[in-house]
Amino acid sequence: MREIGHFIGGKAVAGTSGRTANVFNPASGEVTGKVALASTAEVDAAVEAANAAWPAWASMPPLRRARVMFKFKELLERDRREFAAIITSEHGKVLSDADGELQRGMEVVEFACGIPHLIRGEYTEAVGTGIDAWSIRQPLGVVAGITPFNFPLMVPLWMIPVALACGNCFILKPSEKDPSASLKLAALLKEAGLPDGVFSVVQGDRTAVEALLAHPGIQAISFVGSTPIAEAIYRGGTASGKRVQALGGAKNHLVVMPDADLDDATDALMGAAYGSAGERCMAISVAVAVGDSADKLIAKLEPRIRALKVGPGTDPEAEMGPLVTREHREKVKGYVDIGVKEGAKLVVDGRGMSLQGYENGYFIGGSLFDNVTTDMTIYKEEIFGPVLAVVRTPDMAGAVRMINDHQFGNGVSLFTSDGGAARDFAAGIQIGMVGINVPIPVPMAFHSFGGWKQSMFGDHHMHGMEGVRFYTRYKAITQRWPTGARRGAEFIMPTLGR
Ligand code: NAD
Repeated sequence: MREIGHFIGGKAVAGTSGRTANVFNPASGEVTGKVALASTAEVDAAVEAANAAWPAWASMPPLRRARVMFKFKELLERDRREFAAIITSEHGKVLSDADGELQRGMEVVEFACGIPHLIRGEYTEAVGTGIDAWSIRQPLGVVAGITPFNFPLMVPLWMIPVALACGNCFILKPSEKDPSASLKLAALLKEAGLPDGVFSVVQGDRTAVEALLAHPGIQAISFVGSTPIAEAIYRGGTASGKRVQALGGAKNHLVVMPDADLDDATDALMGAAYGSAGERCMAISVAVAVGDSADKLIAKLEPRIRALKVGPGTDPEAEMGPLVTREHREKVKGYVDIGVKEGAKLVVDGRGMSLQGYENGYFIGGSLFDNVTTDMTIYKEEIFGPVLAVVRTPDMAGAVRMINDHQFGNGVSLFTSDGGAARDFAAGIQIGMVGINVPIPVPMAFHSFGGWKQSMFGDHHMHGMEGVRFYTRYKAITQRWPTGARRGAEFIMPTLGR
């Protein structure tokens, strides 16, 4: 059985805690590996290695750190097929989607190559007579990232290149469900010239996370995962004095106005609701049909959902792979049961799907509900599977009210041909990432990613300038080189301009 261990101090190491978890191929249901679950002592070893490596890494010229990122990008390109295969084998998503995840991750590496420009600070000559002042951004020290199963490569890459290029050391605790991509990442960073100890991977579960949260040698925590854990991480991390950004769950709406191009909106809903089997934090799980658009929209969606090509991620024809685990599939089926019980109209039922030759895989078909109302569980909670709920509302104001009242605030989309309505919508909506005629408005690497309300705890979104701010501390320096007569002690507030 393949053993999946840690990467600490520049080398792969086996777990020593005696605890492991099974890793599955979701398409076949087979156990393909055993991942080590770190003890507190193993977390301590990674932090010790990082703290030892930090002074040299932090004082290395930013340009040289950036050159490691340039090389890293080249190596990610070189091994992109291998990465996609690793992701598909443990997550289940189709290979083309796994490659798309790598592409979005690589774009953050490209962004990080320019970080020397972003941390160079600002200078004012002569803030007072013979006095100059400047500000700089300095790294925090050792930081940690805790990441979810659904993007085993992209989400770590939202954090790692920015943190490293800013001069921090980084410890990654990936999801125990698909841990292998993290080790490949570590090997490539080493090959790119990253000094040992600057990046480590500690595999594990709650024990490892709690050890990271409590460790005094860690300055900041970046977390992406479900809302209850995000909130607990934010509370625990900030209580122990750390800087924390914790991104949580979502319920993303796509509003279809009566003047929208319905074919465009249907294409958008198909990809955004059923791509990656709905296991995306930016998946659209609610279609808000405004005015008379609902019946026409359902008529277009229904045959497309019934015709969805579900198959193993390695099948080039497949549009949607399996869910990540058997438990998760049962949970998603359970939500469909609840929707039926609560009185929503189940237009397409994906629960009964079975795939010949893959009977033990965690497959489920796409489901579609109509007449969903805002008091229903399937509207209020994140399902994280291929289930789309259609909510009908008479006008745009009703759509905005419902979205703004929802507990989550990650992403939203509006499909319309009215520029004025789109402008008002974007201005007033209480959501972190907004798309106009764009299904999944995931910001590019040089903008920043993050939600509002229960979708994020903390102040800084990820990557882009928000990421640079999160991984650096601001320092302002004022300097005078005395010439001539001594000024003597002054007991008023310094007023340099006089
Ligand atoms: P999860 O919260 O179960 O796990 C996330 C991480 O936390 C994993 O590394 C896991 O090992 C760890 N963890 C799990 N339980 C823990 C506990 N009790 N104590 C400490 N650590 C714990 O999330 P998941 O199922 O891996 O991922 C899916 C969730 O992530 C969805 O809710 C999805 O919306 C969310 N997500 C959000 C974003 C975003 O940007 N907002 C992006 C991707 C995924």
